[in-house]
Amino acid sequence: MTIFSRIIAGEIPCYKVAENDKFFAFLDINPVNWGHTLIVPKKEEDYIFDISDEDLGEMMVFAKKVAKGIKKAIPCRKVGVTVLGLEVPHAHIHLVPLQKEGDMDFKVKIDNPDPEKMKKIAEEIASNIE
Ligand code: AMP
Repeated sequence: MTIFSRIIAGEIPCYKVAENDKFFAFLDINPVNWGHTLIVPKKEEDYIFDISDEDLGEMMVFAKKVAKGIKKAIPCRKVGVTVLGLEVPHAHIHLVPLQKEGDMDFKVKIDNPDPEKMKKIAEEIASNIE
């Protein structure tokens, strides 16, 4: 079981943003920018391009819904989309609100993000998802 499956199962806490029957969204615990959100399929698959065409399409549509919520909740020009997957072997899309290109530099993380602020941001994004 991956760490993300344990989060989805409620065994490990997270700052949850949204969920449907197939996908789960929560804040990245080491955000590169405030509002940095992960989109994860409930069905475990390591590499994103091993996901079926149908599920990958649905994953992107779910990401789009969440990205619209992020854009409403956090002042930004656009919400950037990245897939890395080198650390956690459970496919996920990173969504990061961007004012400038440097806001999505994965070598620069927010140091010790304040839990209260993370909670507030997750709630704010969640309440802006249609
Ligand atoms: P990567 O697999 O390279 O896309 O990186 C995994 C991402 O998952 C990193 O940005 C981590 O900060 C994030 N991450 C790892 N563990 C957790 C967790 N328990 N809760 C939220 N995000 C996590």
